[in-house]
Amino acid sequence: MAVTRLPAVQFLCPAGMDDGRPAYTRFVAYDRDDIEKIRQSINIVELVEGVTSVRKRGRAFKAICPFHQEKTPSMSLDPARGLYHCFGCNAGGDIFKFVMETQALDFSEAVEALAKRAGVTLRVDPDAAKRRGHRQRLVEAVEEAARFYVARLKSGADAGVARKYLRGRGYEGDVVDEFQLGFSPSISRTRGFPRNNSPRRVCPGGAREAV
Ligand SMILES: [Zn+2]
Repeated sequence: MAVTRLPAVQFLCPAGMDDGRPAYTRFVAYDRDDIEKIRQSINIVELVEGVTSVRKRGRAFKAICPFHQEKTPSMSLDPARGLYHCFGCNAGGDIFKFVMETQALDFSEAVEALAKRAGVTLRVDPDAAKRRGHRQRLVEAVEEAARFYVARLKSGADAGVARKYLRGRGYEGDVVDEFQLGFSPSISRTRGFPRNNSPRRVCPGGAREAV
C-alpha cells in the first residue's frame, strides 16, 4: 500500500519572486531587470508612509499595520532589504506585495504602479509567455495527478486496505480532501489516468512515480 500526499498547487510569481500569492488574474511578464530597478528605486519607508503612520526608533522603522487594527505599531520596516513584517498579524513581503495588498492589485498592476512612481520604463520579457506555458502544463499535470490519486483512494477497488488503514488512524474523507491524500496503485493499474496530460508529455525526461 502506498499513501501519497501531494503538495498544494500554487502559481508562483512569474517574475521569479515567490511572494506567496497563489494566482494572478492578469499576466504580463516584465523584464526582470526592470523589476529589480524598481525594487532598488523605491524606499519602502516612503511607500508605507503613504498609507499609514511610520515612526523611527533608533535605526529601526515601525509602522501602524494597515492589515489589522492596532494603536501601537507592530509592523517593522527594513529599508535596506525593502521588506515589511507585522508581528501582530504576520503580514509581510516586499514593495510589490505591499502595493498588491493595500490597493487590491495583481502583481502586474503593482509593478506598473511602482514603475510609474520610480520613473522606470517597463519592457515585456518576450520569453515569459513560453516559460509560463510550460509551467502551466506542469501545474495542470500535477493537479490532474492529484485528482487521480485522491479519487483512487476514495473509490478504487484496490485501495480498500489504504482506506481501512486511514480510518483506523481516525482519518475520514474530510481529511483526505483537505490534505489531498491519495492512493498510488501499482504502475500497471494506472488505467484511467488522462494520457493527454501525462507527466511524460509535459516532462520530456519522464516523471518518477510518486511514493
Ligand atoms: Zn498586522
